[in-house]
Amino acid sequence: MTFAATILTLYPEMFPGPLGVSLAGRALAEGKWTCDPIQIRDFATDKHRSVDDTPAGGGAGMVMRADVLASAVDDAIARHPESPLLAMSPRGRPLTQDRVRRLAAGPGVTILCGRFEGIDERLFEARPIELVSIGDYILSGGEMGALTLLDACIRLLPGVMGAASSGDDESFETGLLEYPHYTRPAEWEGRTIPEVLRSGDHARIDAWRKAMAETDTRLRRPDLWERHEGARIQSPSGAQRQKKER
Ligand code: SAH
Repeated sequence: MTFAATILTLYPEMFPGPLGVSLAGRALAEGKWTCDPIQIRDFATDKHRSVDDTPAGGGAGMVMRADVLASAVDDAIARHPESPLLAMSPRGRPLTQDRVRRLAAGPGVTILCGRFEGIDERLFEARPIELVSIGDYILSGGEMGALTLLDACIRLLPGVMGAASSGDDESFETGLLEYPHYTRPAEWEGRTIPEVLRSGDHARIDAWRKAMAETDTRLRRPDLWERHEGARIQSPSGAQRQKKER
């Protein structure tokens, strides 16, 4: 199945952009996904082809018009009625690996990219659009967010990643950060690779990696650690494990 990416944007020339190289670029050439940027301005109706106007209530900047965007969104829905419809927005739900995984398992995604101060709120009342944020900072437009989301989805498509298993214990997949990596040379600037990784003892290596993943998550991402511990204590097997550990 081909994953269909449809992007509504004022800058269609930004796509596939960086997704045209490396893993995603090869997958695109192989037809594992398609990239279909649509120029929002093509749906403007006045002679200046305007897509924005001044904010109601005053203030700086411009706001994207609901009527023009609705025409663009409706066109995209007609092309891919089965695809979820997302809009990039710092006011959206933060993107997670779990959401990425579910999107990648589907038929594709249609992404609306904002510019200026944002989008007339009535669009989100009138159309079934999921708002997605890529983090608590402000980009100048939704395109970089869309590229980020697509990159995260594309690497999960069947046959795109080199080793089929290389996604399984990555950061977030287990609710934890991943363990640290090392490679040759065995010694660099006087620093050696942890002895256990050179032992060839796979049980010890697995135990070390699990311990490192837990320690790093606890220290670097207390928010993730708390959620992970909460889930473990709540699940029956987690509760049993807790008892045994005492
Ligand atoms: N005034 C808005 C920010 C507008 S930035 C506010 O304070 O909420 C312009 C566009 O960039 C947005 O419409 C959105 O599409 C995109 N954008 C900016 N930051 C983003 C983020 N963190 N996640 C996803 N999209 C973002």
